[in-house]
Amino acid sequence: MREAADEMLDYRGLGLSVMEMSHRSKAFGEIMESTEEGFRRLAGIPDEYAVLFLQGGASLQFAMAPMNLARNGKADYLLTGVWAQKAADEAARYLDVREAATGEAEGFTRIPDLSGLSFRADADYVHLCLNNTIYGTRCTDLPDTGDIPLVADLSSCILSEPLDAARYGLIYAGAQKNMGIAGLTVVIIRKDLIREDLPEWVPLMLRYQTHFKAASLYNTPPGYAIYVLGKVIRWLEGLGGLDAMAEINQQKAALLYGYLDQSRLFRGVAHRDSRSLMNVTFTTGDAAADADFVKQAQEAGLIGLKGHRLAGGMRASLYNAMPPEGVNELVEQMAAFEKERIG
Ligand SMILES: *Cc1c(COP(=O)(O)O)cnc(C)c1O
Repeated sequence: MREAADEMLDYRGLGLSVMEMSHRSKAFGEIMESTEEGFRRLAGIPDEYAVLFLQGGASLQFAMAPMNLARNGKADYLLTGVWAQKAADEAARYLDVREAATGEAEGFTRIPDLSGLSFRADADYVHLCLNNTIYGTRCTDLPDTGDIPLVADLSSCILSEPLDAARYGLIYAGAQKNMGIAGLTVVIIRKDLIREDLPEWVPLMLRYQTHFKAASLYNTPPGYAIYVLGKVIRWLEGLGGLDAMAEINQQKAALLYGYLDQSRLFRGVAHRDSRSLMNVTFTTGDAAADADFVKQAQEAGLIGLKGHRLAGGMRASLYNAMPPEGVNELVEQMAAFEKERIG
């Protein structure tokens, strides 16, 4: 953000801001190219995959994936939380959607066993949400889908750890949680899944083919968000890449879960085998005490700890941008609150 602020009014002596540039200009072309190259290098994206910079958020991908990938008109969905459910509901507008597994019986606090699941042989794809932002769970393993492409929402965990893109047919993620600012959605798609023969009614803007052919410049892209992504990529490379980032993220999560597991007041909500490294959900078990803690934490400068309205309790989001010191401060605040309440 400091670098962006320094360049805000005058990008590299050009006398204009990235915000003011034409998306067809040479300077922006370089930003676009170096950002895609950097992303591919950082995340190790194989050549058979396209990286697209789109708009509409992950929510638009809930619709674009079924519109673009349907051949037989069927898809199997793993229901692991709110976003997975939304993706399935949207797909059901276009396809025959089958629920392949669901964590609903346990209030989505645990990822169902994904080994040994069976999928319809003629399903066009299997969809999953790798990290469940609201309930604080994550899939630690991927289901074996054989030749059926795996489509995954990585909005809240992308670039938090190494990515094995080859295991997926399509990956999508909004940029605003782990990759920068709102307005940009990154789509990583195996090129053989980019189809030309789509039904007439699929809008040109909602076809992967349109954006692939135009190198994400079919229309005006979210230029500033792409520029910020470029900066985030360079920051991650400076840290030592995704392995180094993963280690830092594991340490942050271990600190908070470690505290929760010995606390006599707070407890973690997600089951141990399903715990997210990015979103840590916790509670005292008493809504009034939870609210008191959120208020006290906020006064101490620890912001945004109130849990999602559907999950209740508290949630600490430890995205890449959260430094370990922030987690330290949270744990100290929790320990002080615990001491004050129960000695
Ligand atoms: C935040 C989030 C979304 C919604 O993203 P938008 O970019 O707002 O559409 C979808 N899926 C997951 C996993 C998320 O965390």
